[in-house]
Amino acid sequence: MYIDKYGNRWYRGNLHTHTTISDGARSPEETKAIYRNMGYDFVALTDHWKYGDGSEADPSGLLVLSGAEYNYNGSDVLAGVFHIVGFGTEHDPEVTLADGAQGAVDKINDCGGLAILAHPAWSMNTYDMVMPFRGLFATEIYNSVSGLPRNCRPYSGIIVDQLAARGYVLPLVADDDTHFHTGEEGMSYIMVNLGDKPLTRDNLMAALRENSFIATQAPFFECVREGDEIVVRSETPVSCVTFYTNCPWEAKRNVTAEDEPIYEARFALHPGVSFVRAEVTDAEGKIGFAQIITV
Ligand SMILES: [Zn+2]
Ligand SMILES: [Zn+2]
Repeated sequence: MYIDKYGNRWYRGNLHTHTTISDGARSPEETKAIYRNMGYDFVALTDHWKYGDGSEADPSGLLVLSGAEYNYNGSDVLAGVFHIVGFGTEHDPEVTLADGAQGAVDKINDCGGLAILAHPAWSMNTYDMVMPFRGLFATEIYNSVSGLPRNCRPYSGIIVDQLAARGYVLPLVADDDTHFHTGEEGMSYIMVNLGDKPLTRDNLMAALRENSFIATQAPFFECVREGDEIVVRSETPVSCVTFYTNCPWEAKRNVTAEDEPIYEARFALHPGVSFVRAEVTDAEGKIGFAQIITV
């Protein structure tokens, strides 16, 4: 838990976690202990097709959200490889293969949960495959396990930008998609602002529904519109801020630190910009992913 300069309490969590219940390397108990020891406040257990129960009173002190991951169309990238992570449901949504990916999203929502379109870059999803989805809570802009040493395409920025350019804006989460514990654990996470409320499942889900969270690998920052500018302010030292827009060329897209780290960056809106999405990179190359701001 982190208290920001305004006194708000931010809780750190991983929404996409596998264990030995499916193809993860560590048991649920080991996995929960690993995340607690890294300073996490909550995790969702999301084994493939195996519903994990939630618990507000885990012995480790961690809030555990229920969840599962449902995958469709195998490796058929032309049909659309869709992995849907559901979490926070009040009971097992009993999703089946016959439901299809949209049916899975619907059942997760019907059970009071939230649905994430997982790793669209790894799945080689295209914008036209994603745009028909209704009821998604978010998509993963980054999932750690899809990076080195075991995998590729962890970063889905190009897809979320293509979607945003067409007016389809999804909230962005970062998570580990923990499997092997070969370095992906603890790399990418969200921090949820609960203000002065205690960490409970209901408070957490409400804050997520209000998009009151950031996705990050370390930087702690905010990104807001102020008049005709998009402003990034970071509480942690920053090496570079990049402003992604619908325009392939931007004259002042990167704000880069020279001798000293920077803590603020501004992007001047201009005609033709329909959305802005900022990324904040620190001296170690760790990235904070701002939410998309529609202009
Ligand atoms: Zn997956
Ligand atoms: Zn997964």
